[in-house]
Amino acid sequence: MNSGKKLIEVKGLKKNFGALEVLKGIDETIHKGEVVSIIGPSGSGKSTFLRCLNLLEKPSSGQVIFEGVDIADKKINIDHHRQKIGMVFQHFNVFPHLTVLENITITPTLEKKVPQKEAEDKAMKLLKQVGLEEKAHEYPRKLSGGQKQRLAIVRAMAMEPDVMLFDEPTSALDPEMVKDVLEVIQQLAEGGMTCVIVTHEMGFARSVSDRVLFMDEGRIAEQGSPQQIFDHPNHPRTIEFLSKVL
Ligand code: ADP
Ligand code: MG
Repeated sequence: MNSGKKLIEVKGLKKNFGALEVLKGIDETIHKGEVVSIIGPSGSGKSTFLRCLNLLEKPSSGQVIFEGVDIADKKINIDHHRQKIGMVFQHFNVFPHLTVLENITITPTLEKKVPQKEAEDKAMKLLKQVGLEEKAHEYPRKLSGGQKQRLAIVRAMAMEPDVMLFDEPTSALDPEMVKDVLEVIQQLAEGGMTCVIVTHEMGFARSVSDRVLFMDEGRIAEQGSPQQIFDHPNHPRTIEFLSKVL
């Protein structure tokens, strides 16, 4: 639910890789509590846009104002702000050499100096929420893809971020595991977490989002409520894209 408070304000964002202009000027505001899905063809810049939101990619120009601070400014300490931005990738980024529980506690204890016991209690609570409490002392190799992805999500949540970014979190999963992961994201969204989700799951985007952005060739070509985008798309590229994927 959109609270009306600005959380991330993107202004004139451009990104080039050498001569290739991947983001061609994006202006977009994400509000606190909002759930925003990003859809669009492969290569349209969705991942690059998401990665610019936490400076995994450095914008070529423009501003990314997160909680009032331009984090694209070279003078700021990005690590401090990045703690507030959780990210989940397509390929489950968990540490293979750490147990499930350790995967969750390592960053809060090291980077935020949360006491071990407190971090573990919190981690167990999170594991319970996603149905992984019995796996706490296993290593990730014992988990299915869907379980690893749920672990990646709670690992990010353990840092108590102000926003969660998801880049195609279910694309690498076997079909029968998609639902469990989407349910976890839905739970977060319903709990009020601000979420920005790049997804090819159109049914999910429709049901979970407050707003849907359609990206095409480095621009947000069209955006609106799920009803507007899915039932009454205006832009020819949106219409063409949806005719292929729906
Ligand atoms: P999407 O996520 O919508 O599929 P991406 O943001 O991954 O799109 O990619 C957009 C374009 O940028 C593509 O043409 C891709 O090849 C290019 N690109 C992405 N990352 C890099 C990179 N690190 N170096 C060079 N080109 C890149
Ligand atoms: Mg991508």
